[in-house]
Amino acid sequence: MSDLSTQIAVNLAAVRSRIVQAAQRSDRSVEDVRLVAVTKYARLEWVRSLVDAGQTLLGESRPQQLIERAGELPGQIEWHLIGHLQRNKVRAVLPHVAMIHSVDSLRLAERISDIAGQLSLTPRVLLEVNVSGEASKDGFPADRLQAEWPMLRRLPNLQIDGLMTMAPVSDDPQDARPTFRGLRELREKLSTDAKDAAALPELSMGMSGDFEVAIEEEASLVRIGSALFEGLPTES
Ligand SMILES: *Cc1c(COP(=O)(O)O)cnc(C)c1O
Repeated sequence: MSDLSTQIAVNLAAVRSRIVQAAQRSDRSVEDVRLVAVTKYARLEWVRSLVDAGQTLLGESRPQQLIERAGELPGQIEWHLIGHLQRNKVRAVLPHVAMIHSVDSLRLAERISDIAGQLSLTPRVLLEVNVSGEASKDGFPADRLQAEWPMLRRLPNLQIDGLMTMAPVSDDPQDARPTFRGLRELREKLSTDAKDAAALPELSMGMSGDFEVAIEEEASLVRIGSALFEGLPTES
């Protein structure tokens, strides 16, 4: 193994062990927390090393880069789109993604459902919520999501599996807790409305700086990038 793949394998093992510890601390089963390795800033060879080390669930934030990499990397990878999706990119990206975390409006959800119908697909999606209410953030405001939920639920060619959010930027992971808790409470409200407590199994929340807090607040998908690529050169 090259130094590079060794470093990546070491980083991956360290992140996984922190996930296990956070799950155990919060009396959760480790299988209920999945790692989405975010490769948006990673060079292709780094991504190859990650896959070789056994990490096959990958997240990209730009549709174009996801499509390109899906063509360059082996087929067993499960690709998640975690960044903003423009309506005119839906058709190109849908065949390549296992899940879209970033559905941030009813209009986009409708568009995905339409195109998915044409392509005979039923993509799994998460609804992105702007829990913290920051003006700069994408996502449904919580009250709008509740208002539009009946329409979202009725879209025929989507499987809405849960919710996603991003916490405000901060050096203190505890600052993220109210946002993560807010997402969990919103999920509870929506699943009661749906008269189906088992609905919305996924909560996508937590990044390198705050994923342990997210796991304590019931994250099922943590999206981690920079912690996996620590100690690697940033320039090629
Ligand atoms: C980049 C990104 C991440 C990963 O962030 P890190 O701090 O590098 O772990 C997670 N989620 C989204 C939506 C991102 O864009």
